[in-house]
Amino acid sequence: MKQDIKSLTLQELTTQIVDLGLPKFRAGQIYSWLHKQCAESFEEMTNLSKDLRAKLDEVYEIKNCQIERKYESKIDDTKKYLFRLNDGEFIESVLMKYKYGYTVCVSSQVGCNMKCSFCASTIDGCVRNLAPSEILSQVYAITRDNDIRVSHIVLMGMGEPLDNYENVLRFLELISNDDGLNISARHISISTCGIVPRIYDLIEQHPQFTLSVSLHAPNDEIRSRIMPVNKKWGVDELLEACRTYTETTSRRISFEYAMMDGVNDTDECARELRQKLKGTLCHVNLIPANEVRENDYKRSSLERLEAFSKILEAGGITTTIRRSLGGDIDASCGQLRRNHKEGGEA
Ligand code: SAH
Repeated sequence: MKQDIKSLTLQELTTQIVDLGLPKFRAGQIYSWLHKQCAESFEEMTNLSKDLRAKLDEVYEIKNCQIERKYESKIDDTKKYLFRLNDGEFIESVLMKYKYGYTVCVSSQVGCNMKCSFCASTIDGCVRNLAPSEILSQVYAITRDNDIRVSHIVLMGMGEPLDNYENVLRFLELISNDDGLNISARHISISTCGIVPRIYDLIEQHPQFTLSVSLHAPNDEIRSRIMPVNKKWGVDELLEACRTYTETTSRRISFEYAMMDGVNDTDECARELRQKLKGTLCHVNLIPANEVRENDYKRSSLERLEAFSKILEAGGITTTIRRSLGGDIDASCGQLRRNHKEGGEA
């Protein structure tokens, strides 16, 4: 089987290139084509001889993201991409434009196993993990298509990043490396539904990136109903891990909280959340839940979000009501999916 060249570090590639009997400097050239120029084939590597390109093609596979469809929002500058992977699977990624630059929201798996009841990404389960190269290629394909420099990455697309832990860590290493796109770890956010042992593993990596936790409820009763992962690791256990994270790294944690009408949005929920987050170095993002056609959740009203936010703020917890981008093209949180059988509309 051909090797996945884009998932190799420069050091690994160098060792292999030397083992193939080629001069060491070739590794640097190839790596730069792949990770700086975002090349999608050996053909493009014009400073390599034809013979060498043919040889590389025999040994290596370049895992790419082919643009299958592109959806452009009419209300903001958001673009959603449906990508086809080399093996024919589909994933989605989103490009968002902010004042501070371009952010790409990447997927980490084809589908998701976490079964959160409000999320479209989990509806057909998880087909497989994405390789580091396939997470990278989402950013590279979008960089090429728009001729831009991406400055921020959020691992908030399809999939649970901490359920694909090793590949996600390698992706982080490759994308933040100055031999590649050199995106600062501080500009990268990873979001998790709360796989507690992996949060402890992350702490040991001394992470520089931002950790987001999809909390969505203040107690086990509500959270276990909407997020099955909570039956394994409950709210208290999760928040304990989050506190260890902030205390060890001195980095603030973000809590995502999708407000669903009549589910998790009462004043009582806000007070309970305030009590539980007291003293934790954190920030809460309140998001009006996005609609997903397979479930019946309704988003809370803006007044409800504001009332909820006020209660948290009164306890000294900084809270943002996040605007949703790309709502008209189903590019918002929890709306990404791999199943495009319906075709046509976004
Ligand atoms: N599996 C990871 C990464 C996905 S990030 C995680 O759970 O954090 C996608 C974010 O969108 C998560 O915070 C998720 O809980 C949230 N989300 C899912 N469905 C949503 C919906 N219908 N409305 C608003 N947010 C939603």
